[in-house]
Amino acid sequence: MRRKLAAGNWKMNGTGAALAEVTALAAAHPAPAVDLLLCPPATLVERMANAAAGSAIAVGGQDCHAAAAGAHTGDISAAMLRDAGASHVILGHSERRTDHAETDAIVRAKTEAALAGGLIAVVCVGETEAQRDAGQTLGVVGSQLTDSLPEGVTGATVVVAYEPVWAIGTGRVPTLAQIAEVHDFLRAELVARFGEAGHGIRLLYGGSVKPDNAAEIFATSNVDGALVGGASLKAADFSAIIAAL
Ligand code: 13P
Repeated sequence: MRRKLAAGNWKMNGTGAALAEVTALAAAHPAPAVDLLLCPPATLVERMANAAAGSAIAVGGQDCHAAAAGAHTGDISAAMLRDAGASHVILGHSERRTDHAETDAIVRAKTEAALAGGLIAVVCVGETEAQRDAGQTLGVVGSQLTDSLPEGVTGATVVVAYEPVWAIGTGRVPTLAQIAEVHDFLRAELVARFGEAGHGIRLLYGGSVKPDNAAEIFATSNVDGALVGGASLKAADFSAIIAAL
């Protein structure tokens, strides 16, 4: 049985003042029935981890380098995130694939580094609108999944997030049938490759998840939670999404 996960990706938003949202969220969910994760910008990881200490909220980074240390100005390693109090890291988000030209091979190397550093990796896949229009959705997410995940992963070490690029920050959401088609496909791919462990890997949907559409998305086949952007910034919005899980 996969425990549901509500994950928030703050992207490049938030300074110290925003930690009041974490305190409010923790107070609103002292013993949630689902797992909770917030991924702030790197500058807030340690402070958020401190603010969330003793609560049900886990903290994650939004990226890490594939190397353990070295001459990589501006980057951070998995060990640094863990040292700052993170337990998870988002990898291969479409914004990183686009803004930083991250390939599947890079995402796989980062995932290996994250696991070696003791972090749980939240690995993202998703098609562009042009790829969906061309009927390439399953092919694209399938090859991203295959090439971004290392061998031997389990539900204890990775989470997969399906985020259609065209649904991110746009208010446009796939139909429930479209979400089910992709999630069922990803589940089958995970089971085909990893066997029984593939059943334990959680599949999150991400892209314009809001309080008013969360319940129906969460009721969709093979949806084990959400990776939420904009609606994770305010405790009230994210609370309503958590309640829908
Ligand atoms: P929005 O929820 O703002 O559409 O962002 C989704 C996302 O990219 C989460 O990683």
